[in-house]
Amino acid sequence: MTASAPHELDLVIDFVNTRDLEEGTDALSRPQELAEWLAKRRLGTARTLAPDERDHRRAIELREALRSLMLANNGGPPAPRAGRELERAAREGGLGIHFADDGSASLAPGAGGLAGALARLLIPVADALGDGSWQRVKACRAADCHWAFYDRSRNRSGVWCEMAVCGNRTKVRAYRERVPARPGGRVAAARPGGPGSS
Ligand SMILES: [Zn+2]
Repeated sequence: MTASAPHELDLVIDFVNTRDLEEGTDALSRPQELAEWLAKRRLGTARTLAPDERDHRRAIELREALRSLMLANNGGPPAPRAGRELERAAREGGLGIHFADDGSASLAPGAGGLAGALARLLIPVADALGDGSWQRVKACRAADCHWAFYDRSRNRSGVWCEMAVCGNRTKVRAYRERVPARPGGRVAAARPGGPGSS
């Protein structure tokens, strides 16, 4: 789990994981935090990024669109709106093919500032779409988690961010839901204070 994902996908995964659903925290809750996060990853400087409220909102929309696509990669519903959101970010950042003097070509944002920085986040996505590795970028299936991760399983069957945590949690919940309905099973309803409500 320590090796990094190909195509700098960790950048996109880290971006999505700035929001922690389980903990209820968001590391990008303010425009200033967004600027700092991007600057730390050399996608601009605090001065050139300087996001206002609208920029901040767009960045959050892009982040959640990426999460929707990662959920779709994990058996979730298709996310056509999310695709359009990425397209918009790419357009606003002037994402295009840059031909270098040595004849090589790569994607690069034409715009600077925040639009360029957000478009830059999409380059790993585009590169990974090219060789199918994007299908391995998933958001955890647990509804209260949705943590982004790179699925390294051989047959691309990973579903939970960390089997030890979310997989077991889900299994325990399913077990709890099953047990009271089991005929002949011990039921805790006789206890004063009410049966287990969750
Ligand atoms: Zn999870």
